[in-house]
This record gives sequence, structure tokens and C-alpha cells, in this order.
Amino acid sequence: MAIPSYKAPSRSAYDIVIVGGAVIGSSTAYWLSQALGSGASILVVERDSSYEFSSTALSTSAIRQQYSNPINVKISQFGIEIIRTFQERMAPFYKDEPAPDLGFREHGYLYCCSPEGVEAARERVDLQRSLGAHTVFLEPGPLKERFPWLNVEDLGGGSWGSREEGWFDSMGMMNGFRRAARASGVEYIDNAVTALDLADGRVGSVRLATGQTVACATLVNAAGPRAQQVAAMAGLSIPVAPYKRYSFVFASANPIPGRMPNVIDLSGTFVRPEGELFLTGNTPQGDGRPAMTISKCTSRSSTTTSGRHSGTASRPSMR
Ligand SMILES: Cc1cc2nc3c(=O)[nH]c(=O)nc-3n(C[C@H](O)[C@H](O)[C@H](O)COP(=O)(O)OP(=O)(O)OC[C@H]3O[C@@H](n4cnc5c(N)ncnc54)[C@H](O)[C@@H]3O)c2cc1C
Repeated sequence: MAIPSYKAPSRSAYDIVIVGGAVIGSSTAYWLSQALGSGASILVVERDSSYEFSSTALSTSAIRQQYSNPINVKISQFGIEIIRTFQERMAPFYKDEPAPDLGFREHGYLYCCSPEGVEAARERVDLQRSLGAHTVFLEPGPLKERFPWLNVEDLGGGSWGSREEGWFDSMGMMNGFRRAARASGVEYIDNAVTALDLADGRVGSVRLATGQTVACATLVNAAGPRAQQVAAMAGLSIPVAPYKRYSFVFASANPIPGRMPNVIDLSGTFVRPEGELFLTGNTPQGDGRPAMTISKCTSRSSTTTSGRHSGTASRPSMR
């Protein structure tokens, strides 16, 4: 992180203080500003507004409907609606230039399954379809027919999201929400929250790296992989921790024709097209905690948070 030029906030008290201004913090700021109007004062505190090491910047930014938990399917359906309408939603905040197009690649996910996994895979497909998802289960024959480049020899089949799954530009989304929030009166400052003061079991104020104390009625913890640290400042322990993931790109001598989906093989390794190249990744062997040694072929490694995760960079637990 470059040496930050931290700034003081313009007020000593806000209705809402948001810790972290990447995609979740900026999305929260945007939605709150639209819901509450200019009457509410909102401050976003961001410790590194280059966002270089944020999960948002490092993300493989894929979205799927293929979950086994109905609430996750519903959340993703809302996400798809936001991605599809993002440019239109952001247009009022981009008067003289085009609003960000998130470049959504609707190629789908293809979860490969072993012969033993077919029954469970079919059950998940049925559940997803009952919730309005467009997942289909393909046996090895039809799978090979649709994706001739796929080796189906050891597969029992695969579940493929024929619509409303793919990948998009997460930084474009963050920049859009951030700009819209600022244009709606939200204040962003480069600073770090270093402590929280409690009064009657509630967070009453935040302390900043530059020494100021800022009072708040509501605090939002959007600190990503540091969310646990921020929670600990209020004496809370939350099940969010950074885990190591890795991803890298490679070229292929043989082009893959058609709309190649984000393929997750039996080991949990994912691969998908990325422009002229291919993006792939997995979880380090073992439990994936940061102490794990990362393979030398890694060209980009990063941490992500536990909890709800889209899973392109993790084993296909499909929660
Ligand atoms: C390699 C990788 C692949 C991923 N792939 C996918 C995917 O395919 N699909 C998907 O849905 N998700 C994926 N994710 C997860 C997704 O990127 C994250 O869930 C999302 O970006 C989290 O956004 P966030 O705003 O919560 O966290 P972050 O983007 O990490 O932002 C947190 C911000 O809080 C700031 N901050 C922290 N502490 C403080 C403090 N004390 N004071 C002030 N500021 C603070 C940080 O500087 C940071 O900018 C992936 C993540 C990684 C790392």
C-alpha cells in the first residue's frame, strides 16, 4: 500500500459510518443514500482508496445460480438483475459520458460431477429450477455434444447454467456505486478506523488513524477480509476470516470454439476464457488457510473471505 494521505472528515457526527469503501461498502452507501435521501449523513472510511489489495479488485467476479441453499439462489437472481440494469441505473450519475457497462459474459457455469455424484447433482438442479434458475443436467453424451472439447470419460455428467450465470467487471460495479453514492451526498475519506467506542452496547463513535473521533448512530462493517478485525473492535467475534486462493492465466495453442462456460472439474479447479487467454485457479491443498505454501506457478494470489463466496476460486461446495 502506498503511504496514505489520510484526510479528516468534514463533520464530527454522522447518521451512518461505513468502514470500507470497496464494492460492498460503496453498494451499501449507494442504496442507503437512495433510500434515505439527502437528510441522512453518511461517511465512508476507506484505508486504501487505490483498492489494490481489496477482494473487489482481485476477484474473478463470477456469478452463478447453482447453489444448494435457496437463499443464495435468490440473492444471485437479484444480483443478475442489478448487473443487467447497471448502466441504466448509473446513467443519471454520468451526465456527459457513458455509464459503466459491466461487460457481463453470460457463458454459464458447468459443474462437472462424478458418476457417484449424479443423484445429488440432479437434486440440486431440480431445486434450482424450482426457484426459477435455468440450470440443466447433461449426461456425458449430451455434454460432449454441447462442449466437444470436454473430456467426459470420467464424468457422470454436468450441471450447466444456460442463462443468468457468467462473469463481469467488479471494479466497474464498484466505481459506479461509489460515484453514484458521492453524487448523492455520501462523503468518502481516505482514513482507517482504528477503534470503536461503545455506549449502552452500541457503537457510538469511531476513532480514525488521524486521531479524530467521529460519532455515529449506525456503523456498517464492510471491511471485507478485515471484517473480523473491525468486529473485534466492538468486542464481537464473527465467522469471517481471510483464506488463501490462487488464480492465474494461461494461453492455449488450440482455441476453444463457442461460448465456453466457467468449468469446475472434479477437483474443484475452475477454468474459463478471459479474452484471448484462460483464467484458472483453485484452493491450496489442505484447509486453505493463509499459512499454506502457494505453488510457484502462481502469477496472482490473494485472500478472500470465508462465508458466502461464489466459489470460482474455491472447491465446489455449492452452498
Ligand atoms: C481471488 C478471488 C476470487 C473471487 N472470486 C469471486 C467470484 O468469482 N464471485 C464472487 O461473487 N466473489 C468472488 N470473490 C469474493 C468477492 O470478490 C468479495 O466477496 C467482494 O469483493 C468483497 O467486497 P468487500 O467490499 O466486502 O471487500 P473488499 O473488496 O476486500 O473491501 C474491503 C475494504 O475495506 C477496507 N478496510 C478494511 N479495514 C478497514 C479499516 N479498518 N478502515 C478503513 N477501511 C478498511 C479495505 O481497504 C478494502 O478496500 C473473490 C475474491 C477473491 C479474492
